[in-house]
Amino acid sequence: TLALTLTACAGEGAGSGGGGDDGGEGAGEDATVGVAMPTQTYERWVADGNNVREGLEEAGYNVDLQFANDDIPTQSQQIDQMITQGVDVLVIAAIDGTALSGQLQAAADAGIPVIAYDRLLRDSENVDFYVTFDNYQVGVAQATSLLHGLGLVDEEGNEVDDAPEGPFNVELFAGSLDDNNAHYFWDGAMDTLQPYLEDGTLEVPSGQTNIEQAATQRWEQETAQERMENLLTSTYNSGQELDGVLAPADPLSRGIINALRSDGRGQTIEDGLPVITGQDAEIASIKLIADGVQYSTIFKDTRDLADQAVSAATAFLEGNEPEANDTETYDNGVKVVPSYLLEIHTVYEDNITETLVDTGYYTEEQVESGQ
Ligand code: BGC
Repeated sequence: TLALTLTACAGEGAGSGGGGDDGGEGAGEDATVGVAMPTQTYERWVADGNNVREGLEEAGYNVDLQFANDDIPTQSQQIDQMITQGVDVLVIAAIDGTALSGQLQAAADAGIPVIAYDRLLRDSENVDFYVTFDNYQVGVAQATSLLHGLGLVDEEGNEVDDAPEGPFNVELFAGSLDDNNAHYFWDGAMDTLQPYLEDGTLEVPSGQTNIEQAATQRWEQETAQERMENLLTSTYNSGQELDGVLAPADPLSRGIINALRSDGRGQTIEDGLPVITGQDAEIASIKLIADGVQYSTIFKDTRDLADQAVSAATAFLEGNEPEANDTETYDNGVKVVPSYLLEIHTVYEDNITETLVDTGYYTEEQVESGQ
């Protein structure tokens, strides 16, 4: 396999190969896997791309890995090209989960199995497998950590005896509406917060409590920062307290922190910043958590997700079906896509070492430097 690994690095550019898979069976170790990732602006997708590529190459396959700068036409084009070049399997983390139906149809017509990576591909029959995390649980965990930071529940989400009565002022942020995951995160979070909103323990002074109002188009940090600035101007301009912010991804958390710091609302939680959640355990946010600035994040081990994608691709290439551990949850609008869901972990200041350093995800030095 060593020799095969060495030859497995081609697969870039329109000219490569030309002959497609000479074996004619579309499988075997000559196979090429097309991997379409959304963007390099979030750390995780870069890690995902590298991990999937390495895993596939170790298994002896060629890899065509592309990032699309969060631009839908670019991603469509990249996938069109992979299909034309005769890839044997597609692994796709979509920008807009509904925008690739044409590509998925072309893949099906060419007999190319499609694995949805992390984000569900929607409104199409032609999605063969889905590898992801328990996305609803991500939202539950984010909201639970928010409640925990306010002193209302323990880390497991059980109510504590001497809980303060509140009311606490919170604001809510969601991800990009064209990402299926954003809806699962939101639903998990809102189901968890609902009882506290209903009994008045939590209040949302802006009144912006539906996902359309809370959404952050394309998950952009600046967009979240701007919305936080606008909320501060519209709703918190005469000294009102803000106690917590539900933020669904670390770059958004950092945008929100920037806005709050500039507004003079403290530099750390201790001196006034609200409890702010996150997702992805990005190294810059881990440093902020270690420094008592961001309250929590959700760690999703992308190494495990990459492994699952590699196993699923291998199964298809060997003519088998990948092994699912969930065949009920992910209805894409046309069919329920067999899925493999991975577990998530909440990271707080006091378990950074246990969750991220001991598992080899980051080194101690990285946590200290934030890089
Ligand atoms: C992923 C998150 C990520 C977000 C923004 C979601 O689909 O599940 O991990 O933070 O996209 O890139």
